[in-house]
Amino acid sequence: MISSNGITTAIPARITSHSKIHEVDFDNLEFGKYVSDHMLLCDYANGEWQVPQIVPYANLSLNPSTLALHYGQTVFEGMKAIRQHDGRINIFRIEKHYDRFARSLERMCMAVPPKEMFTEGLIKLVGIDRAWVPKKPGTALYLRPFVYASEARFGVKISDQYRFIIFTGPVAETFARPIKVKVETNYVRAAKGGTGFAKCGGNYGGAFYPAKLAKEEGYDQVLWTDARENKYIEESGMMNAMFVIGDKLVTPPLSDSILDGITRDSLLAIASNLGYQAEERQVSVDELEKAFRTNSITEAFGAGTAAVVAPIQTIHINGIDYHLPEYSHESLLNRVKQKLERIRTGREEDVYGWNYVV
Ligand SMILES: *Cc1c(COP(=O)(O)O)cnc(C)c1O
Repeated sequence: MISSNGITTAIPARITSHSKIHEVDFDNLEFGKYVSDHMLLCDYANGEWQVPQIVPYANLSLNPSTLALHYGQTVFEGMKAIRQHDGRINIFRIEKHYDRFARSLERMCMAVPPKEMFTEGLIKLVGIDRAWVPKKPGTALYLRPFVYASEARFGVKISDQYRFIIFTGPVAETFARPIKVKVETNYVRAAKGGTGFAKCGGNYGGAFYPAKLAKEEGYDQVLWTDARENKYIEESGMMNAMFVIGDKLVTPPLSDSILDGITRDSLLAIASNLGYQAEERQVSVDELEKAFRTNSITEAFGAGTAAVVAPIQTIHINGIDYHLPEYSHESLLNRVKQKLERIRTGREEDVYGWNYVV
């Protein structure tokens, strides 16, 4: 990495002598089940980041009064390294992930790891564990950079110490089958002025309960609405919400209660490139209801790194289950998803500069 005096120094790495790769069933990669052999660690103390190091993946030892465990200063990213058709490995949209990481950390008053540490740490870590990048279509090495408040002190305060970690693990796509969602008008995920745009742990913790209730009613997830009026769609579970209404791709505009999804951004660009009209504008629950009555809504899906797209088959609105037609290969969601996969695997030119091939 580049130190402050501009001299390039390597991140020191301690390589494990006990690889666990033979324990992985690469034909059945459940999301979140396997972690690769190594992780990157770096501590922030006395106002500065220390030297990062790559070490064998292992448990952490935590003081019970570690601030993150009590007051929730935790922020993460979710990214993918994808095996290209020529065997090389592509880390997708590093820069945009870093920018969002920095914005999330700033909102939570947390120390921001320097960009070079983030970028070079990912590149070196993926290089060391390159055998863990799976090869089947739709699979990837999931990358999980995160920071937590590591100061041991139980008084309420902004932590003065942080730990930055990156670990990785091979995954297959989640949500292969179309899902059922319920428009949520009682609970909210995020409010104006809150932390909805930040990828912080608390947003997830607070969203579990309404999602659990929806599951008990037979739905896979909730479609969140705005906190003020419960009138406008915000996100689909922990994914951005996208609809095809009147042949246009429509998605709610970014705000401080909507997470700036990198999949959302990529799919919007690809859809326009494929000749679809793409609109970032508010989508009201009323509009969805009317669109179902006039059959002008033809697709609905969540967009996020884990699943890429999560097709929606049913939307529950005000006591009624509305159903969407089946998704063919010609549907917008399948066309944009395929195009994204072709760009990421190097089968099609990366005109956007999204790929970082190592
Ligand atoms: C991570 C996340 C998304 C999806 O973002 P991607 O960058 O596409 O993975 C959407 N909504 C929420 C709330 C998220 O946390």
